Amino acid sequence: MKEFDYIIIGGGCAGLSLAYELEINEKLKDKTLAIIEPRTEYKKDKTWSFWKVTNHNFDDCVKKSWENFTVNISKNTKYIQCTSYPYQSVDSGLFYEKINNKLKENKNISFFKNISEINSKNSFVFNSVPSIKKDHRNLWQHFCGVEIETQNNFFDDEIFNLMDFDCDQRESVHFFYTLPYSKTSALIETTWLSKMNDGSKKDYDAQIKDYIENHLNLKNYKIIYKEEGAIPLFYPSHKIEKNKINIGTAGGMTRLSTGYTFLNIQEHSKYICKNIENISKTKKFEISKKYQFLDDIFLRVLEKHPEMMPDIFFKMFKSSPKTVIKFLSNKSNFFEDLSIIFKMPKITFIKALFY
Ligand SMILES: Cc1cc2nc3c(=O)[nH]c(=O)nc-3n(C[C@H](O)[C@H](O)[C@H](O)COP(=O)(O)OP(=O)(O)OC[C@H]3O[C@@H](n4cnc5c(N)ncnc54)[C@H](O)[C@@H]3O)c2cc1C
Repeated sequence: MKEFDYIIIGGGCAGLSLAYELEINEKLKDKTLAIIEPRTEYKKDKTWSFWKVTNHNFDDCVKKSWENFTVNISKNTKYIQCTSYPYQSVDSGLFYEKINNKLKENKNISFFKNISEINSKNSFVFNSVPSIKKDHRNLWQHFCGVEIETQNNFFDDEIFNLMDFDCDQRESVHFFYTLPYSKTSALIETTWLSKMNDGSKKDYDAQIKDYIENHLNLKNYKIIYKEEGAIPLFYPSHKIEKNKINIGTAGGMTRLSTGYTFLNIQEHSKYICKNIENISKTKKFEISKKYQFLDDIFLRVLEKHPEMMPDIFFKMFKSSPKTVIKFLSNKSNFFEDLSIIFKMPKITFIKALFY
């Protein structure tokens, strides 16, 4: 069976981002790479959005970018400008196409459906398939979104809505998220931060229909695309193995308080590429311990007091937009962290240390 220098398990966001980074930096001229990916065809299946706090390779896959957004709670709306860090939405269809076209050019890169088709004994492995044990105590960010089209102009495409908490909370944390791509099209998502031990929050279609028709007051529209997902708000289990690194969600690249993962994946890919010649001895890349600690407290509060979360998120955005965005994107300094921490209900957060 064929052997390869490197193996990437999972040709999704993290696997393909890494392969692309290695390819464009000419790290695969004299090395071979096998990508293990079971899917039979690549098509748009996700929309990755984030504030652009660092450069990445996929500006040409950005479907839309905004410099203004809102956050809503019942009877109150905050308008926020993000000119320094625009919010970008990457179309996964364009992303897959761009990367796969590039990788095809290199004969040293091969795709397989299953790792059993190759000899992996002497390869260095990058694994993006998470090992997630069923545990009813785990928190998830789970959501469903539809892209809709209207006949007449309806949306203001200059401003997106990050969180609209003015909806049914069901003793959990629930908000709607609206990305207007144009005056006649938008992605509208219902998002829950909750455990997933029953199906009680998963009537997504009814939630979205009710929001569009009775909250946005839009009656004439057509659904042209749908996406559904669940992001673990905990780190997948991780076994330290020589010659193996986990990447993507499996590699702890999700910011647990927000679910944002895409840009962390890009930074991880750049880090691996820079250290590829000495990868087995390179220090593990991770989201800074500071955010791991703060997110842990945040999620404890969220679990114990879901009813407080709309206000907590709303208050967080009372800090300067730059500060909040940097904090949510793991780029804040000590003083910016303090500015966010002081906006939080202190006694609740201190008590959470002892739950
Ligand atoms: C619908 C959705 C929307 C999201 N939106 C955002 C967002 O807006 N912003 C953000 O920052 N993050 C977002 N995320 C979170 C995160 O960025 C994505 O989940 C991202 O795709 C994670 O990349 P990954 O490579 O870890 O996983 P994936 O992209 O899921 O890739 C894993 C790959 O492994 C393959 N695979 C599965 N089983 C095997 C196996 N046994 N062997 C080999 N391969 C296998 C899969 O087919 C898949 O291609 C979203 C997640 C989802 C699900």
